Amino acid sequence: MKAWEVVIGIETHAQLSTQAKIFSGSSTAFGAAPNVQASAVDIALPGVLPVLNKGAVECAIRFGLAVGATIAPRSVFARKNYFYPDLPKGYQISQYELPVVLGGKLAIQLGDSEKEVKLTRAHLEEDAGKSLHDGLGHHFHGRSGIDLNRAGTPLLEIVTEPDMRSATEAVAYARALHALTRWIGICDGNMQEGSFRCDANVSVRRVGQAALGTRREIKNLNSFRFMQQAIDYEVSWQIATLEDGGTVEQATVLFDAATGETRAMRSKEDAHDYRYFPDPDLLPLLIDRQWIERVAAQMPELPAAKRERLLADYGLSAYDAKLLTSSLELAAYYEASVAAAGRSNAKACANWVMVDLTARLNKDDREIDQSPVSAEQLGGIVARVGDATISTTIARKVFDSLWNGESTSADEIIARHGWQQITDGNALETTLDELLADNAAMVAEFRAGKEKAFNALVGQAMKRTRGKANPQQVSELLRKKLG
Ligand code: ADP
Ligand code: MG
Repeated sequence: MKAWEVVIGIETHAQLSTQAKIFSGSSTAFGAAPNVQASAVDIALPGVLPVLNKGAVECAIRFGLAVGATIAPRSVFARKNYFYPDLPKGYQISQYELPVVLGGKLAIQLGDSEKEVKLTRAHLEEDAGKSLHDGLGHHFHGRSGIDLNRAGTPLLEIVTEPDMRSATEAVAYARALHALTRWIGICDGNMQEGSFRCDANVSVRRVGQAALGTRREIKNLNSFRFMQQAIDYEVSWQIATLEDGGTVEQATVLFDAATGETRAMRSKEDAHDYRYFPDPDLLPLLIDRQWIERVAAQMPELPAAKRERLLADYGLSAYDAKLLTSSLELAAYYEASVAAAGRSNAKACANWVMVDLTARLNKDDREIDQSPVSAEQLGGIVARVGDATISTTIARKVFDSLWNGESTSADEIIARHGWQQITDGNALETTLDELLADNAAMVAEFRAGKEKAFNALVGQAMKRTRGKANPQQVSELLRKKLG
């Protein structure tokens, strides 16, 4: 028998970063008391009319431009009819036959290679409310509540072709999409708060078989780790079921993080069950060239273009360029540090940002835009290492001082502490002569062929100069003196 092939398509709901809801002026801010942000429009009381939020449309245009998609000149809002306690109006306004964004693609990283995932479409829609089952207080003990604050929050649903062939590829896609939507400023990407939720459609077939297998859809994956676990489990389950002579029924399933298993929630409804029809309260959405051009003019440089430029302009490796473009904030910080340090220090800036700064930020659980050391300050440190004013050892001390808010610039700290490297050759020679005189035993060991003793002497010299000597120069001078 031929081996099994895994086929995955992903649908993502990205909550758009607008202040107001998609069809009303209510706030979209997270965390308010239940039901204080649900207006008459959000719950469709009789007689109200929705008014489209242009900001949400611009988010969709931005996304379309970022993935090389077609922005539909005319798209249509439709009612998707279903009953659920968190949807008192009985329908969700979405787009169906004519979505706002068509096609496009997204490059994903798989180790050293790259793969393109084709996008089918992206459409605008409103979110539903939320059912609350726990933590409602003793008045509600054993009962559930409905919070309609989220009703009407703008979403962009982004749908891929069934292009992914493993859980790893699916996660790489989700990560790339997450980074891109944040980069272009349309989604805050907060997965705990539900701002970025993925459904994974999973099927298996024998290698070489043209037709797709029957899929099951895993709903609402809100972490990359859960996505990996859920798909891995689902794939094993489908293969085991088929090899046992069973069949896979099309279904919607939920992932249970506690057991690591997927469980059928309901058999999958078909589109005709929803009785989609164009929303009579909303005009078709018309987007002209000028509007697209205005949005395009405000777009940041995209990650791929920035990566290319970092490679070409700063001579970085592909790895460095990829890491430094993992977010817009990080890339901006890096470029500002190079502007302060000078182009010749571009590679050193990359190392400082990716190693020292990142480690320190992680330790204090801070994001790059909360760094106590600004890009200009970091560039200032790197510049002084570059022109040999200070050693790397001292540079770390300067970094710590800046991190702790002791001063405003590297130069000020270096001057205040007298941390300039000893460049005066005579002073260094005197120090080394004294050192050798005081450590006759080590000198003898070195002469007897012990290279370790030499390193110990260099260490001693750095200590005596309190790190201010240039280790290279110390090492050269010592060798000369020891013959
Ligand atoms: P629905 O209308 O149920 O949302 P779609 O046809 O729009 O279904 O497909 C939803 C997602 O499922 C898309 O990402 C698509 O690529 C994916 N998909 C469709 N068929 C399969 C299949 N047999 N195996 C895996 N993924 C699939
Ligand atoms: Mg769908």
